[in-house]
Amino acid sequence: MDRIQLQKLRDLPIEGVAERLGLRVTRHKSLCPFHDDHHASLSFKVSKNTYRCFVCGESGGPIDLVMRYLNKDFLDACRWLADEDNVILTEFEPKELLPPKPFDASRYERFFERPWLNDEARRFLFSERRLDERVVRWCRLTSWKDRQGVPWLQTPYYSRDFKLIGIQNRNLVKGASPRFRFPQGAECSIYNLPVLNLLRPSEALWITEGCSDCWAMLSSGHKAIAIPSATLLSKKDMEQLSMISSQLSVTFHMYPDSDAPGERLFLQLQKVLPLLEHHQLPPGCKDFSDYYLSTRK
Ligand SMILES: [Zn+2]
Repeated sequence: MDRIQLQKLRDLPIEGVAERLGLRVTRHKSLCPFHDDHHASLSFKVSKNTYRCFVCGESGGPIDLVMRYLNKDFLDACRWLADEDNVILTEFEPKELLPPKPFDASRYERFFERPWLNDEARRFLFSERRLDERVVRWCRLTSWKDRQGVPWLQTPYYSRDFKLIGIQNRNLVKGASPRFRFPQGAECSIYNLPVLNLLRPSEALWITEGCSDCWAMLSSGHKAIAIPSATLLSKKDMEQLSMISSQLSVTFHMYPDSDAPGERLFLQLQKVLPLLEHHQLPPGCKDFSDYYLSTRK
């Protein structure tokens, strides 16, 4: 297991993780889920990124919280955290000792020739996310159901010359875990690369975190690419961004998520894109999708 990735999971803000688990955090405290609590005995220490209950004594960091709360072992807790943040942790697969198999695009290409959206996918994309149909078509989003009848949204990742290089499967059942699955060898790092071919000189290119923000950005009429996550930006991604910036005379723009990882990501990106312009989300919007939805009400 990669130490750096593990550290990134340990650095996920403890209160954010608690909230994703469904705990209500107010002034660094919440009800303790580990004993019958009525007085918000669980407190969060943001500076150390830890939690502790002063009644039952439960304590630890983000990974411990997930392990204890969801009754998962260490690896599953890591996977859950990674999924929640759309971090791709192929290193956590048990097959890590076998040589990685390359992504077999020929197995999947046909799914995207005639994209088809089931009711769950349509509800997610058009009712919940209010996305533009043209964007959904451009992105060739499609859907399928597995043997258990679970609906999945399938997002293809293309290289700049439209070769299928990866697929992200998103479980459309609310609260399902894992939320994302990737076929073996899938390269799901920078999303929507084909849009680069449509850019005119000095046009604005927006950078978003994750593909859902990218769809929202495209639906609001901007050209956008997405990077996988604040918690995981690989050296290869950085090199690719820096290459894009040297090849194209475009301007780069971003609405960082309104949290510490969002701002950290912006600073990280600024190292390869020095002219990256910072845009501020209005108060109360946690990410661009949120903001986009607030403009469609
Ligand atoms: Zn307790």
